[in-house]
Amino acid sequence: MYELFDSPAYSEAVMQFRRAGERLATDDGLEERFELPQRTLVVSCPVRMDDGTQKVFSGYRVQHNQALGPYKGGIRYHPEVDMGEVAALAMTMTWKCGLAELPFGGAKGGIAVDPGKLSEGELERLTRRYTAEILPIIGPNEDIPAPDLGTNPQVMAWIMDTYSMSKGFTVPSIVTGKPVLIGGSLGREEATGFGVAYVAEDTLERFGKRTADVKVVIQGFGNVGTYTALKLRDLGIKVVAVSDVRGGIYNPDGLPVEELVEIVRRKGFVTDHGGGDKITNEELLALECDVLIPAALGRVIHKDNAQKLKCKMVVEAANNPTTAEGDDILRERGILVVPDILANSGGLIVSYFEWVQGLQEYYWSREVVHDELKKRMKSTFIKVADFAEKEKIPMRLAALMLGIDRVARAKKLRGLYP
Ligand code: NAD
Repeated sequence: MYELFDSPAYSEAVMQFRRAGERLATDDGLEERFELPQRTLVVSCPVRMDDGTQKVFSGYRVQHNQALGPYKGGIRYHPEVDMGEVAALAMTMTWKCGLAELPFGGAKGGIAVDPGKLSEGELERLTRRYTAEILPIIGPNEDIPAPDLGTNPQVMAWIMDTYSMSKGFTVPSIVTGKPVLIGGSLGREEATGFGVAYVAEDTLERFGKRTADVKVVIQGFGNVGTYTALKLRDLGIKVVAVSDVRGGIYNPDGLPVEELVEIVRRKGFVTDHGGGDKITNEELLALECDVLIPAALGRVIHKDNAQKLKCKMVVEAANNPTTAEGDDILRERGILVVPDILANSGGLIVSYFEWVQGLQEYYWSREVVHDELKKRMKSTFIKVADFAEKEKIPMRLAALMLGIDRVARAKKLRGLYP
């Protein structure tokens, strides 16, 4: 069955799981069970294009494990989406939910499409058809999608509407990350970035580097990158370089974060700002700094550039930004890596709050959401850092072991069906 998921992302997810699983005394058979997803759905979605032609898009929904609760995971629209990548991301979601102690299992979905090349109407028709195709396996108590790369609150609104129309009544908790007006949570938009900033601050404090002249570099200035930068500014931590798909800017004295965010809000690029030296994304990764935060694509730190990094620590905001080989090199060089399943879990945590609010039809204030998020991020950070220190292992391995262990214990309690 493994050949179904053949891809570098899936092989790497399995390898990481094995590294952690070897150190955990899990039961016989559980390893294989955890390496393979529980359920995988492949759908083809025909869409009427604006020019009258019909185009068929491939879509996936992979449900990895539900030992801890209903499946939960984002939906990605990207031309390179394939079943292996979706399966890898679904597995990572399972460990992330376990680590954050949320009552969810891991899932992920995706469509192989470049959303930038579709009109608004085509995107809506594609989303509605994909939702109709995966409808038999999703539900507010079964599997709850959310945004990921290439999808946004508007896409979630269409999913919610399609699902609700099929039921005949409104079901807000079918998705998270939807607009606030139709049941989204206040504080969801900024949750991942704020969480990344809290983790960066905790890492600096814990490892004795929280000084006035700390320098942070951020790759990617979209949802996660901008809110990370804004929260770091609030915490009095200097951001010296940021980048987006066009390249970056660097100023060792610090960048005016608010002005840069404003440029991006107006659909501009960070290089439109004149307040720093223009640099490439590769140059940005090699800047001398205290904390490097990759907040764009996966696999950007790899065997060919890991030797060039001049940061003291990496806080992974993107999903899978470091390949296994890149990770090994960073470890040998003594660069601390705070893994994605810890650092970027803020969005998942507030998605959980959104789901709870929807089920109860009782909505929290932004302050309550922010306070609860901060508490959970900080306690999870301490849990991982303490465990890593006690076991003398990297934080990535510690985070994975804690996440997997919780799922394995739940699975053991539930036993084997039938
Ligand atoms: P986004 O689309 O809002 O922003 C992505 C940013 O990356 C943009 O600034 C874009 O210009 C930049 N970018 C794209 N290609 C690039 C390249 N080749 N080099 C450098 N920069 C490039 O996406 P986002 O929601 O901010 O997500 C960023 C990362 O964080 C993704 O890996 C995503 O999976 C992960 N993540 C996001 C959330 C969330 O809640 N949004 C939660 C967990 C993890």
